[in-house]
Amino acid sequence: MYLCYLDESGTPEPGGTSHFVLLGMALPATSWKRRDAEVSALKTKHRLSREEVHTAWMLRRYPEQERIADFTALDDAARRAAVRTERKADLAKASLRGPSAVKNRLRDYKKTEAYVHLTFGERLALVRDLADAIGTWNDVVIFADSGMKSAHHGAPKRLFSFAFEQVVTRFHHYLTAVGGGVVGLMVQDNNPTAADHLTTLMRDFHDSGTKWASIDRIVETPLFVDSRLTAMVQLADLCSFAVRRFFENGETDLFDRIYGRFDRTGSKLVGLRHYTGKTPCQCKVCVDHGR
Ligand SMILES: [Zn+2]
Repeated sequence: MYLCYLDESGTPEPGGTSHFVLLGMALPATSWKRRDAEVSALKTKHRLSREEVHTAWMLRRYPEQERIADFTALDDAARRAAVRTERKADLAKASLRGPSAVKNRLRDYKKTEAYVHLTFGERLALVRDLADAIGTWNDVVIFADSGMKSAHHGAPKRLFSFAFEQVVTRFHHYLTAVGGGVVGLMVQDNNPTAADHLTTLMRDFHDSGTKWASIDRIVETPLFVDSRLTAMVQLADLCSFAVRRFFENGETDLFDRIYGRFDRTGSKLVGLRHYTGKTPCQCKVCVDHGR
């Protein structure tokens, strides 16, 4: 059996990001224990131990941390205490601008609280190490669809369905190629807004197949887990973040580390598609995909 961890980056709704990415990172269930242990070891090495890796929040700058003098000379407990003091001062300033300013600050602080003892460079080093690990895992295969939102004429549900259908179909074809009657199960971060839609879509695929295949190698509807406790979902999150940043900003640092893991048939890239509608694109993914 293969487990395929799903995650998305960007929003399918108009505005904000220019792309919406849905990604599946699959590995044989028999590899899970070894890979999970490797992730734990890397997190411990980088002083994050049991905390969730949330790439987008880790790779932000924390200005209140960066203005602390001699921050790197402090131990972890002192670093945390110093950041807490700075944050208190910033909250007091934000309260002069009104309740929504305070609310936004509190949300940012909560999302980044686990990482404030690490400098930007230390956080980046962990994310890079994890991306490098994924890049070397030859039992892992990635499937993703990156849709340019303007090519979908602002239909968020259609954009999401389209991407999901791509990922499910590619996963099915991969399992068929593995052979031996192997089946796959999908696992998704618990996201109440997407859960109903995803489950309904998957039921439809089981009943009638996708546009390209009857998906008899995949069982069940996606299972929902808590990403804070599930390292593989966090890695799928890292990968979907890297993919979106590649298409939106041309950032290659993380993307190049995992690019070799996208499914290929021979030398042809089949596991990653850049959908731009009628707009021509010559990015390396479109070239390797043979558009
Ligand atoms: Zn492209």
